Amino acid sequence: MITLKTEDEIELMRQANLLVGKTLAEIAKVIAPGVTTRQLDTLAETFIRDNGAEPTFKGCPNPYGQPFPGSICTSVNDTVVHGIPDDTPLKDGDIISVDCGTLLNGFNGDSCYTFCVGEVAPEVKHLLKVTKESLYLGIEAAKAGHRLGDIGYTVQQHAEEAGYGVVRELVGHGIGHEMHEDPMVPNYGRRGSGILLKNGLCIAIEPMITMGDKAIFMMPDRWTIKTRDHKPAAHFEHTIAIHHGKADILSSFREVEEIESKRA
Ligand code: MG
Ligand code: MG
Repeated sequence: MITLKTEDEIELMRQANLLVGKTLAEIAKVIAPGVTTRQLDTLAETFIRDNGAEPTFKGCPNPYGQPFPGSICTSVNDTVVHGIPDDTPLKDGDIISVDCGTLLNGFNGDSCYTFCVGEVAPEVKHLLKVTKESLYLGIEAAKAGHRLGDIGYTVQQHAEEAGYGVVRELVGHGIGHEMHEDPMVPNYGRRGSGILLKNGLCIAIEPMITMGDKAIFMMPDRWTIKTRDHKPAAHFEHTIAIHHGKADILSSFREVEEIESKRA
């Protein structure tokens, strides 16, 4: 069942999502070779709780009933999503996607950014650039009167044009009181197919794009999802509302990108 959000609810959703943006900015400040993903996790959990919210991912069960141990997902290089924070230090040339969820005033925020650690190979930087572009193109396609398939079609076109793979098994989603609500929002699709997009629809759009083949597999921990060919994968995610006919981006990369541009 799809629940459309009121104006007031969209503003509450924005607060939860802006907190995710601020948490990702805290992470951007410290990402460097030698830092462990567990350090990033601790930093994120503390920051989220200090801001009066809950890290939604912590304890969230997988289909086998196993709770996610971290407050953020930290997915390095060939890990597509759901990487568990641990004591492995990041290395120069790694990429790491940090997916973060918060629950604030009863509403969920969800956003993900893929960061470079030190100096990253140009072809990997290109994967990040195209994945981020595919997210924003997908967001532009999310307008009242368009259909859900228009979003996936747009994301897929852009990623495949660059020769990349679009993961099929994992998709974006509706979001609100629950972190995952209807509808599912695939990163592939046919133009003009699927449900009609209406004002008040809140969804997370999250392209997961692979440098090589799109095939993935799950590690024995039943969380970590990797590319089968072990080539890198990128993941960018925004939560948006369809608001006054077009996409209103509720999460934000602004602070993260300010920190990144100062480093460059
Ligand atoms: Mg997410
Ligand atoms: Mg999501």
